[in-house]
Amino acid sequence: VDSAASEQALLERRARLLGPTYRAFYRSPIHLVRGSGVWLYDAQGRKYLDAYNNVASVGHCHPRVVEALSGQAATLNTHTRYLSEIILDYAERLLGTLPPRLGHAMFTCTGSEANDLAIRIAQHSTGNTGVIITDFAYHGATIATAQLSPAAVGAAGVPARHRAVAAPDTFRDGGRAAHDFARNVAAAIEDMRAQNIRPAALLLDSAFSSDGIFFPDASVMRDAADHVRKAGGIVIADEVQSGFGRLGQGMWGFANYGLAPDIVTMGKPIGDGHPMGAVIVRPQLVSSFGSNTGYFNTFGGNPVAAAVGIAVLDVIEGEGLIENARTVGAYTGELLAALQSRHGMVADVRHNGLYFGVELMAEDEATAAAKTSSVVEAMREDGVLISSCGPRGNVLKIRPPLPFARDNAEQLAEALDRALSNW
Ligand code: PMP
Repeated sequence: VDSAASEQALLERRARLLGPTYRAFYRSPIHLVRGSGVWLYDAQGRKYLDAYNNVASVGHCHPRVVEALSGQAATLNTHTRYLSEIILDYAERLLGTLPPRLGHAMFTCTGSEANDLAIRIAQHSTGNTGVIITDFAYHGATIATAQLSPAAVGAAGVPARHRAVAAPDTFRDGGRAAHDFARNVAAAIEDMRAQNIRPAALLLDSAFSSDGIFFPDASVMRDAADHVRKAGGIVIADEVQSGFGRLGQGMWGFANYGLAPDIVTMGKPIGDGHPMGAVIVRPQLVSSFGSNTGYFNTFGGNPVAAAVGIAVLDVIEGEGLIENARTVGAYTGELLAALQSRHGMVADVRHNGLYFGVELMAEDEATAAAKTSSVVEAMREDGVLISSCGPRGNVLKIRPPLPFARDNAEQLAEALDRALSNW
């Protein structure tokens, strides 16, 4: 069977069986059958450099993770109503990577569940209801988190008790929104107050992934946090994208801002592909929640998940992946910046560790968005996987697995150079 015909057959089968909500990347979707390290292979045996998937963050199908998973799966897997040592070993390891005031770890299966639980805890512990987010954020797919995800539901889908403030865009208008970020949060709190609403939480993705990938100055982030705390709210760092070493300066993105979050939520890279999430919380915040409500998640924190989580931490440490994210990230950043000087449509290159946003501009926004998706398509034809993000769809999103090497960075930059040259 020729490959286009078999992909077409799979697409038709997928639409028939899974319904209309599933979206595939690319005009001609890729049928992947295998992954290893930074490489993905399609059904025809074609090899792609993965510069997009942060879930398989320590590398696709890392043998150490696979071994931990299969070993524990062959021994015992059950829920958290029985005593188990491995979940405690894992909690100890994970908490050891975080500031000591974050004393409890609660386990979920997804980032959405983690944020959902964090919001419940914030509302319960503060007695307040409002949540402040950025205006093109994504925080999850449950009702509560979708309503805090304007990227998914639009501004109109955010309930009136919450406020979406302009993301701290460090590029547009000379970085005005980043400069004014704390002030905009203060204004949102005032605006809430006028309607008798108080903030339960400020919920921020430390890399502003959906908003277009921004790394604003630490001081505006800390000031924004102070405003929310003064108004009786807490600070939740959503580390689903930025956590586990991606930003190359340590394990957690919030630390780059000197922020002291009350809750940290995590997901995606936590399990190298295995569905896991976690809420790390200041103990005081859950004491009353714990006695009044309790929390049970059938699969969250199961022994297989704990074994996988420990293996992921072992690999990050053992292979020096944070250091790699820093050094190869800096090298990749230089290669991308060199493209900026050669291609007029590259307006801004921003990054931290191995997380890059490359903003493309054209004569108007629609053209910029169209060119951005054409670049993503051209890269795929050239064997390199990336994607795009941002409210205008004009930011290339580059977020490879952490074992990305210098020659991988060169391949990425050369493919991007070719894609940009075709204009
Ligand atoms: N927070 C952020 C910042 C995310 O990017 C995502 C997923 N894209 C989520 C939360 C939700 O995670 P999950 O898809 O695992 O539920």
